[in-house]
Amino acid sequence: MKAHDGMYIDGAWRPAAGQDVIEVVNPADEQVIGTVPAGTAADVDTAVRAARAALPGWTATPPAERAARLTALRDVLDARRDEIAETVTAELGAPLKFSQAVHAAVPIAVAGSYAELAGTYAFEEKVGNSTVYQEPIGVVGAITPWNYPLHQIVAKAAPALAAGCAIVLKPAENTPLVAQLFAEAVHEAGLPAGVFNLVTGLGPVAGQALAEHPGVDLVSFTGSTAVGRHIASIAGAAVKKVALELGGKSANVILPDADLAKAVNVGVANVMSNSGQTCSAWTRMLVHRDRYDEAVELAAQAAAKYGERIGPVVSARQQERVLGYIGKGVAEGARLVAGSAEPPRETGYFVSPTVFAEVTPDMTIAQEEIFGPVLSVLRYEDEEDALRIANGTVYGLAGAVWAGDEARAVAFARRMDTGQVDINGGRFNPLAPFGGYKQSGVGRELGAHGLAEYLQTKSLQF
Ligand code: NAD
Repeated sequence: MKAHDGMYIDGAWRPAAGQDVIEVVNPADEQVIGTVPAGTAADVDTAVRAARAALPGWTATPPAERAARLTALRDVLDARRDEIAETVTAELGAPLKFSQAVHAAVPIAVAGSYAELAGTYAFEEKVGNSTVYQEPIGVVGAITPWNYPLHQIVAKAAPALAAGCAIVLKPAENTPLVAQLFAEAVHEAGLPAGVFNLVTGLGPVAGQALAEHPGVDLVSFTGSTAVGRHIASIAGAAVKKVALELGGKSANVILPDADLAKAVNVGVANVMSNSGQTCSAWTRMLVHRDRYDEAVELAAQAAAKYGERIGPVVSARQQERVLGYIGKGVAEGARLVAGSAEPPRETGYFVSPTVFAEVTPDMTIAQEEIFGPVLSVLRYEDEEDALRIANGTVYGLAGAVWAGDEARAVAFARRMDTGQVDINGGRFNPLAPFGGYKQSGVGRELGAHGLAEYLQTKSLQF
């Protein structure tokens, strides 16, 4: 798709206030594939004003009509699914098959789920002598990352629109093209002007201006914990609502009676997919000491198979960061059983699928989010030890438990300090609430829980 040289504000593409642009680079070949405007506080202000002006009309639109617009939006995204996949492949570097199956298909499913929820959600209930209304929170400032670029936009925009909110989106600077495509889809779907607005730009400039704008009622952010903390402090000072989807260091706990080969293979695939750039990735594999060596062997074999199939990471900066962590793992005494701290190719920001054995819970690679194709395999003594290790980071976003006996896996999962756990390879559910315990975030996305984030409650007594 061709990049727009303006911002989508108040229902049209308008010139940016300034002249600066951001170059979009294909991480697989390092070629510049387009430029988008680098928005400033002035663009953000125009967009927030447009959203505020559109808010009363959209809030007053009956839920059934909002549902119809969301259905139209889902249908436009579906009709453009090939273009979505090609765009994400070009700016993120994901292999085309993965872009089709995940980067295009998941947001279409999520948009569809909110088209349905908008029409069926109980925005009103009776409690004794009261009627309780769920009303839209107002204007949403959405700040999204690049790793699942369209999914993260839709996971905010679709529930916000279903709730009756207006929205200003500041997408990640690495992946603005699919955000522009989404704005085109909103337009084609016939949403009223100003209900959805797009400002491309740098985080510390356009993102910061959006978080600080007094016309924004809720800041919904997905990205790093460091920036999330900063945004939460801005929102806190302004007594503004905030939703945060941050990092993770999720544990894949393989209990002694599990199907080891399956648990290890699925676990490795989970980490390597999207080149390890998944906040919910199970980057720590926990294996009982009696089966540890076997698991390491299986993991190394599984990782080696990914060698040619894995895409690059998003940028030179990210490649440097991930390779730095691999070097640190070696320096701290972990054993490299697959992969390397050297880039595997001259061109493109590639990182070899990497597996570390002999990782102890205190090592940097067992504590910090690497956001690359790097798996740490840790040894545990017994279930209590496994639980201590699993819960022993500042994060709590996702996880997995494998056991021969499902009830045993569930009992373990209930003791994990984390927001989502897959039992014996349970499938991704786009309606299940997604979000973090501890420093992995505040609030939930997806399904009815995700819609509730964009509502506030009013009660009338009779
Ligand atoms: P980031 O947190 O810097 O960027 C996410 C979004 O926040 C982008 O849109 C960015 O422009 C914006 N932003 C940056 N600084 C801002 C500021 N001061 N005010 C307002 N908005 C701002 O993430 P990144 O630099 O793209 O990636 C760095 C690390 O973050 C990764 O290595 C990874 O560990 C983590 N990450 C996590 C997720 C996740 O889904 N949990 C997603 C992306 C990155």
